[in-house]
Amino acid sequence: MSYADIILPVPLDGLFTYSVPEAMQPLLKPGMRVLVPFGRNKSYVGIVDRLHDNKPEGYAVKPIAQLMDQQPILQDAQLKLWHWIAEYYMSPIGDVMKAALPAGLKAEEGYRPRTETYIRLTPAYQNETTLHVALNILARAPKQQQAFISYLQLSGWDMIASEEGRTPSPVTREELMNQSGATLPTLNLLVKRGMLETYEVEVSRLNKNGEPHPELIKKMSAPQQDAYNQILFSFLKKSVTLLHGVTSSGKTEIYIHLIQREIEQHRQVLYLLPEIALTVQMMERLQRVFGNRLGIYHSKYSDAERVEIWQKQLSPHPYDVILGARSAVFLPFQRLGLVIVDEEHETSFKQQDPAPRYHARSVAIMMASTYSLSTINYSLQPKVILGTATPSLETYYNAMNAKFGLVELKQRYQDIEMPEVQVVNIQELQRKKMMHGPFSPLLLARVREALEGGRQAILFQNRRGWAPMVECRQCGWVPRCEHCDVSLTLHRSMNQLTCHYCGNTYRVPAECPACGSKDLQGKGYGTEKIEDQIRDIFPTARIARMDLDTTRTRQAYEHLISDFSAGRTNLLIGTQMVTKGLDFDKVSVVGILNADSMLNIPDFRAYEHAYMMMAQVSGRAGRKGQRGLVILQTKQPDLPLIDYVVRNDYQAFFRSLLAERQAFRYPPYYRIIYVFLKHQKDQVVETAGLELGARLRQWFGVRVLGPDKPAVARIKTLSIRKLVLKLELGIDMAKVRQYLRLAQTQMLQDKRYASLQLYYDVDPL
Ligand SMILES: [Zn+2]
Ligand SMILES: [Zn+2]
Repeated sequence: MSYADIILPVPLDGLFTYSVPEAMQPLLKPGMRVLVPFGRNKSYVGIVDRLHDNKPEGYAVKPIAQLMDQQPILQDAQLKLWHWIAEYYMSPIGDVMKAALPAGLKAEEGYRPRTETYIRLTPAYQNETTLHVALNILARAPKQQQAFISYLQLSGWDMIASEEGRTPSPVTREELMNQSGATLPTLNLLVKRGMLETYEVEVSRLNKNGEPHPELIKKMSAPQQDAYNQILFSFLKKSVTLLHGVTSSGKTEIYIHLIQREIEQHRQVLYLLPEIALTVQMMERLQRVFGNRLGIYHSKYSDAERVEIWQKQLSPHPYDVILGARSAVFLPFQRLGLVIVDEEHETSFKQQDPAPRYHARSVAIMMASTYSLSTINYSLQPKVILGTATPSLETYYNAMNAKFGLVELKQRYQDIEMPEVQVVNIQELQRKKMMHGPFSPLLLARVREALEGGRQAILFQNRRGWAPMVECRQCGWVPRCEHCDVSLTLHRSMNQLTCHYCGNTYRVPAECPACGSKDLQGKGYGTEKIEDQIRDIFPTARIARMDLDTTRTRQAYEHLISDFSAGRTNLLIGTQMVTKGLDFDKVSVVGILNADSMLNIPDFRAYEHAYMMMAQVSGRAGRKGQRGLVILQTKQPDLPLIDYVVRNDYQAFFRSLLAERQAFRYPPYYRIIYVFLKHQKDQVVETAGLELGARLRQWFGVRVLGPDKPAVARIKTLSIRKLVLKLELGIDMAKVRQYLRLAQTQMLQDKRYASLQLYYDVDPL
C-alpha cells in the first residue's frame, strides 16, 4: 500500500493522506505511530488509520518521515471507537486522539522508561585472587575500602569467591550508598579504578500489588445473590443491564463477584467510576481481592505511569481488571468481557471542555460492539452494567422499554432502613423570624442530639465560598467578573472575590465604587459561611468542610474522608462532593440546607439533578439498628419533587419528569444538540448566531431554537451564543451532521467570522 491516512492531533476535521516510502511499506500497519511533516515547518506524531493505493488528487502528497513503532499501539477496536466518538460527538478525530492517548505516546521524544542504576564488579575482579589484590590496594583509601567491602557483602561476593556455581545478588547504587554510608564521589573513584562498574536496568512504575486473594471475596447476602443471578440471566439476552439498587445496598460486592467470574473465564473487566469516587478506600478494597490483576487509571496518575499501563494492556500479560475514571475507556483491551459503569448518573462521566464532549457511559455501551470478538470457536460480546441508586432519565427509560435489562435491589445491605425525610418550610420560619441564619430550629436540635449521642451529621449546601454574591446596601451595586458575565463569590478566608467560571480573583473593595458607601454585604450562604456559623453554635463539635476549596489536592480530599469515617471529625459540611457514593456508618442526620438553590436553575435537567443530589445525600444517613434522618429545608414544600424525595419514590419522580420532557421535546424523546458560537466581539457573535440560525432553519425548520444568550453569556472574555437543535428520535443523524457541517463550512468562509469558534455539544447534560 503506497498511501496512508493519518490521524493528527490537530483540531481539523478529517484525516491527512501521506505517501509511504517503499522501505516502510512492508512494516506499516494501522494503529502505528508515524512522524509526519505538517504545514510549512511543523511535524506531528500521528496514528495510521488506513492504508490504501488511491493517489489523492489536486495536491502534492508528502511522504511519512519516520515510523515510530514496531507494533501498533492502537487496536482495530480502538480505532473504530475513535471514529465513532468523532462522528457522534461532532468533534475532530484529532481531538479524540488528544483526549485518548497519554502525552508520552503523542510526543516526538515521548515516554522514557524509568531506569535504576546498579553496581557490579568489573570482570577483572571477579575471582578470589584479584579481589584480595583490590582490598590490599584499597587499604590506603579506607572510605573506598569500606564501600567496596559493603558491596561484596550485599552482593554475596564475599561468600561466592570461595564457592563454585553461585551468582551474586544485584545491588543498586542507592542501596549500596544507604547501607555503607558511602558518597557518590567515593563510588565514582572505585569505578575509575576499574574495580566496580555501573549498569542501568529498566524498572516499572506500576504498583507492585501482591497476589490476588479471591478467598477474601465476601459471601453475598440473599438479596445480593438474587440480583447477581438476575444479572447473569439478563446477560443472556441484553448487552446492557441497569442495576438499580438503593443507596447502601452493597452493589460493589456484586461487582466484585461479577469481576471474579470474568477473570475465571479469562476475560477482562473495565470498572468505571466518577473521578471523585475513586478513593483510596475503594482502590484498596479491590486491590486486596484482585492484587496484581488490577490496574488503576485516572488523571491523578503521572503520564509515565499511564503510558506503562497502556503498554501493559498491549503486552501478553495485560491487567485483568482496570479501575478507572472516564478516560479509561480509551485503554486497549484484548479480551474484554464486561464494562461496569458505577454511579452511571454522575454528570462527571461527560467531558465538558475541551472536545470531544463525550459521555463515558455512551462510549462504554459502544465498546460492547467495537470490542465484539467472534472467531470460529469463540464468540464474545462484552456486557455492560450500569449501576446506580438514581438512574439517569435516559438509562431508566431504556430499561423501561426493554432496550436495557433491569435488575433491582430494593433493600439496603444488612437490612438498614431507608432514612426518614422531614421537610421544613423555611419561608414560613423566616416570616416568623425563627430561622437561625440558614438553620431551622428542628435541624439544629437534631444535629445537637446526634453529636451528643456520639454520632455524626452532614450538612449539604450546594454553594461554596462565603457568600455567592456581594451587594452594596445603598445603591445595589454588585461586583462582577471583568472577563465573564457573572457576579463574584466572596471567599472570606482568603479575603477575595472569585469568579467561579474563569477562576480570576479580585480584592474585596473597602467601599462601593459606584456610590462610596462602606455598607457592602454578602448575600446568601456558601459552605464557608455555614461552617463559620455552625462553629459558633456547636463550639465543641469537630467540624470539617468538603468543597472544591478544601480539596485542592488528592491528599486533602482523602484526609477529609478518612477523618470523618474514623470519627475524628463528627460534623461534615459540604457541596455535592459529599454525595458521591461515600459510605459512612455513623451518620444519623443529614441536613439539606436549601433545596431551592438546586431547583431554581434555568436548565431542563435542573429537577433531574436536584432529585439525584437530594436522594444521594440522603442516602448517607442511617446505620445498623437506627433509622437515619434527613432534614430537607425548602421554600417550596408543596412541590411534587420534594414529595418524591420524601417517599424515596424514584418511579413517581421518573414518570412526572418523563411527561414534562415529552411535552417540551426533550430527551429521552428527542435528541438535543447545542451549537455554541464564541467570539471576542459580542456584535460578531450576535450576527453569526442569527445567520447560522437562518441557515439551519432552511433544513431543520422549527427544530432549531435560538440563538440565545446562555445564562452566562460571556466567559473568559469571549461572548457566547447558543443554538439548540431538538431532533426527533429516528431522524437520520448522519444527514443532520452533514447539514451542520455544511452550514459551518459556509459560515467560516466568511472573512468576518475568521476567528469565530463554533462547536457542538451532543446529548448535553
Ligand atoms: Zn453603592
Ligand atoms: Zn470570570
